[in-house]
Amino acid sequence: MLSSRHLFGTNGIRGLANKELTPEMAVKIGAATGTFFKRGTLVVGYDARTSGPMLAKAVIAGLNSTGCNVLLAGMAPTPTLQFAVKKHKADGGVMITASHNPPEYNGIKVIWKDGIEVSHERELEIEKTFFTEKTHVAAWTEIGETWELPGVIDEYVEAIEKHVDVKVIIKKHYHVVVDGANSVGSLTSPHLLRKLGCRVTTINANIDGTFPGRPPEPRPENLGDVAMVVKAVGADFGVAYDGDADRSIFVDEKGEIHMGDKTFALVEKYFLKANKGEKIVTPVSSSTLVQDIADEYKGKIVWTKVGSVTVAHTMKELKAKLGGEENGGIFYGPHQPVRDGAMSTALILDIMAKTGQKLSKLLGELPAYYLQKGKVECNDSLKEKVQQKLFEQTRSLKTNTLDGVKIWFEDKSSILIRPSGTEPIYRLYAEAKTEKKAEQLVKDYSLKLKKIIAGLRH
Ligand code: MG
Repeated sequence: MLSSRHLFGTNGIRGLANKELTPEMAVKIGAATGTFFKRGTLVVGYDARTSGPMLAKAVIAGLNSTGCNVLLAGMAPTPTLQFAVKKHKADGGVMITASHNPPEYNGIKVIWKDGIEVSHERELEIEKTFFTEKTHVAAWTEIGETWELPGVIDEYVEAIEKHVDVKVIIKKHYHVVVDGANSVGSLTSPHLLRKLGCRVTTINANIDGTFPGRPPEPRPENLGDVAMVVKAVGADFGVAYDGDADRSIFVDEKGEIHMGDKTFALVEKYFLKANKGEKIVTPVSSSTLVQDIADEYKGKIVWTKVGSVTVAHTMKELKAKLGGEENGGIFYGPHQPVRDGAMSTALILDIMAKTGQKLSKLLGELPAYYLQKGKVECNDSLKEKVQQKLFEQTRSLKTNTLDGVKIWFEDKSSILIRPSGTEPIYRLYAEAKTEKKAEQLVKDYSLKLKKIIAGLRH
């Protein structure tokens, strides 16, 4: 996934561990990052991947070589590390994770002092230092030090508890199934849930960097086990995390797996009921459901480009308190404006406890939409021109062109047509009140796209 010209992709630095992302390279990335942070103090952590400790040590060596000090948080979820950066007033942080990518991958995320991943401009600065090798070399008297930072998990869990009604939740004695993906979600959520009076049944809770239980991405096809266990033990719900536990997907008591924007809309509904007029930040890839809830409960949607870092930065800029993504990322500003799996879990419990309703009922009450996806092959070199043509052809419709083209139709159906950042394809995401209509939209717009591409080729 790593290119020879760019270090950072849409989600930090990602690559095959020990092949693309080697310890040698990690030392250099550490040194480039350390040069950027100018002898500051950074918190470093990693998820459960087999290459985590190795890459963390290499990054730390690079950071120390430039005079940066390191607080080593060890194995922890990404949101836990982000919280620790702010809590300990560090200048920044480095998280070694490839999030939802397969086990053989790893990655590096650089965190700013506000706990959010650094902006694209700052990434470019680090990248420039990396490629020009103009890293700061500290004198031997100024080489950075590394200290252990124990207790980050307890601090993080305690902070989450402050944002929910602990007394009301404890009284309910919920039974929750947690699928930790054999990674860091298992370190925080079972602990948090027990403190909230829940009985916790865990699966894939043994830390194992080979991810033997399931792939790290919490897609429905990977969540059959958690759904089955929820039903088998009669739990109130189940929750499954991705590899670094910033995303969470929920399973109701009937064993039904719900899309991320549905749970996000539920959180949005109860948030807006208590906070009228607030802004809700979400990428154009989210369901119209999010808009429906905002319309009904007097919220204001701020659409952004796709990408969690954009959502987080927009929230900070606008002082928005809630954000969310269709992939199971919920950003709760009063805690921290980043995706946070454990915080999302606590919010769902809070809603269930206060309403006394079952999760299937709460989610079932939301407007229903059907999703349909498609893709059309398109050379990278043509993508810009295709985009231009699409803009022209859809100008008379209700559109948003922040990221690809999103079109909203009168009958509440919509379609997002977006060039892939990593593959030579255009992706189509249609949504409608019936399955048939969603399918039709994908068909129609695939055809339109193919015509545009064929026209441009000749
Ligand atoms: Mg993740």
